[in-house]
Amino acid sequence: MTGFDNIKIVLVNTSHPGNIGACARAMKNMGLSELTLVNPEDFPSGVAVGRAVSSIDILDRARVVENLVDAVADCGLVIGASARSRRIPWPMLTPGQSANKVLEEQDNNKVALVFGREDSGLSNEELQQCNFHVQIPTSEEYTSLNLAAAVMVICYELRKAWLALEGEFPLDDDQLWDIERATGEQVEHFFEHLERVLIAIDFHDPDNPRQLMSRLRRLFGRVRMDAMEMNILRGILTNVEYHIKKPE
Ligand code: SAH
Repeated sequence: MTGFDNIKIVLVNTSHPGNIGACARAMKNMGLSELTLVNPEDFPSGVAVGRAVSSIDILDRARVVENLVDAVADCGLVIGASARSRRIPWPMLTPGQSANKVLEEQDNNKVALVFGREDSGLSNEELQQCNFHVQIPTSEEYTSLNLAAAVMVICYELRKAWLALEGEFPLDDDQLWDIERATGEQVEHFFEHLERVLIAIDFHDPDNPRQLMSRLRRLFGRVRMDAMEMNILRGILTNVEYHIKKPE
């Protein structure tokens, strides 16, 4: 159960059936299942099926309608994806904000995420049927994503936001790590040992310490070594001591 049953992806007047198949695939990867096609140029299509791979079920169930008004007739929240900002400023969302808004509202409203034509995007009239616009930040040199890539980014943001709500993402380091962190006591012993060795090899002068030990503390503090890494470093220090004490 992914919790996206109330969300539909709407593709307006798509020219290339391959893009429709690739959008279905992106949707299924991210756990969405409802696809509405507004006046597609070439559908049903073997090319779409080829690109959909294991998401053919989404194509089979796709609804085909004549215009965007029909596509969003049952929706309480409509978000249109657009690479450009238009003449009349419209409420804008980032992909992350759009995901949060959808998750907040999907229990009470059916939601449409609307994507435009490959060549000309969504018309001003279509954009004005949306409550919000969402723009995917890109390089300024080339702002227009492939249709299926845009669908993927928006659907991935939804999934990421949903996983964060469920407490599954992001996994923090401590959930992934195999070894426990070095304790404060182990860390103190390590620094005493390190300082001893640095003095013994004439790298560190305790009468003129400058900020060496503080900087090393900051370095290792950032890394937050685990107990095994600490043991390895202690082993190296011990061997260094052994070799400098050894008679020639
Ligand atoms: N040349 C068209 C872009 C078409 S790309 C234009 O300038 O509008 C096809 C669709 O992908 C767009 O209509 C939009 O829904 C989506 N898309 C592409 N790039 C996007 C971006 N940077 N942000 C949001 N949506 C984008």
